[in-house]
Amino acid sequence: MGILTTAVWLIDAVRPDPAVLAEAGALLRKGKLVAFPTETVYGLGANALDAEAVGALFAAKGRPADNPLTLHLAGVESLTPYVAEIPAAAAGLMEIFWPGPLTIVFKSAGILPRAVTGGLDTIAARIPAHPVALGLIRAARIPVVAPSANLSGRPSPTTAAHVLDDLAGRIHIVLDGGPTPIGIESTVLDLTGKSPVILRPGAVAKEEIAAVVGVAAETIREAFTERNADWLRSRLILVEGPAGPAAQEIVRLYERFALENKTAGIVTRKERVSNYPGPVVGCGRAGDARSAAAGIYAALRQLENMDVILVESAPGDFEPVVRERLRRAAFQVIGVRDAR
Ligand code: AMP
Ligand code: MG
Repeated sequence: MGILTTAVWLIDAVRPDPAVLAEAGALLRKGKLVAFPTETVYGLGANALDAEAVGALFAAKGRPADNPLTLHLAGVESLTPYVAEIPAAAAGLMEIFWPGPLTIVFKSAGILPRAVTGGLDTIAARIPAHPVALGLIRAARIPVVAPSANLSGRPSPTTAAHVLDDLAGRIHIVLDGGPTPIGIESTVLDLTGKSPVILRPGAVAKEEIAAVVGVAAETIREAFTERNADWLRSRLILVEGPAGPAAQEIVRLYERFALENKTAGIVTRKERVSNYPGPVVGCGRAGDARSAAAGIYAALRQLENMDVILVESAPGDFEPVVRERLRRAAFQVIGVRDAR
């Protein structure tokens, strides 16, 4: 569905040029599709009030019509028209985590085009913290729906190049503000029932949410509804354990696949790249789980032409939420231990 050539507009991530934001905001308001960086991943924005623009967004992503979109706002005052109520728990969480990587599901006021939520009577919303995202939404003067800017079923994009890989010719503009700082998605929290439910684990930990709501973390249920990692399922092997034995196991697998004429790529930490043969990507530094989270999607995209991707996961390499994502994406999880 090539629309046109997608324009790339460079923009400073810390102090975005107001003139660029104003121009991109005006295009959004007119119904164009504009991709932009948020603190989590790149989002693909469309005017939430414009059913045609929302339809074009679903088409550009190849997103199933029943997968609802998240509303991105520039301030809490913009939320009230779109929700039926703001529960007390939500008010406290918004106070602490907005702007930031927490998406909250509310009962909907039902005034947005049906396509936005695929006919659901709930609506998800957040206020992003990234200066480009915030500035763009403010400049657009409209609520913006902004799912991750990837083709449906592919990993979320953490650079403008990832966005172009998936969506070049399908969207109007990508604002290139460099790599996104967090690199994994927002946490989606449903507050429409009696007790909070995490629909998608993400950048805000369950423990942080529990502390603000004033409940024990174990009482917050998790119902993982995302299938974002589907594209990997056939080829990812996760090797968990101490770095030495994990490396031995990965090299053994690598050699076995080579004998079978299968290509294998390896994801490890930057310091350990030289432990490995073949195509290997250093994702983050050892003991710095944040840097590994920021780089994991880029690393997986880099190796997606391989028959198999072997990911090394030593203790402390990944945050629990990232490890969980990798486990769900893997067709095999291998645990290794220190030899005694
Ligand atoms: P993305 O579209 O990639 O930004 O991811 C947004 C996530 O929030 C998806 O997993 C959606 O299914 C989920 N989501 C959005 N709106 C709702 C809603 N009203 N109820 C439940 N989940 C939602
Ligand atoms: Mg997504």
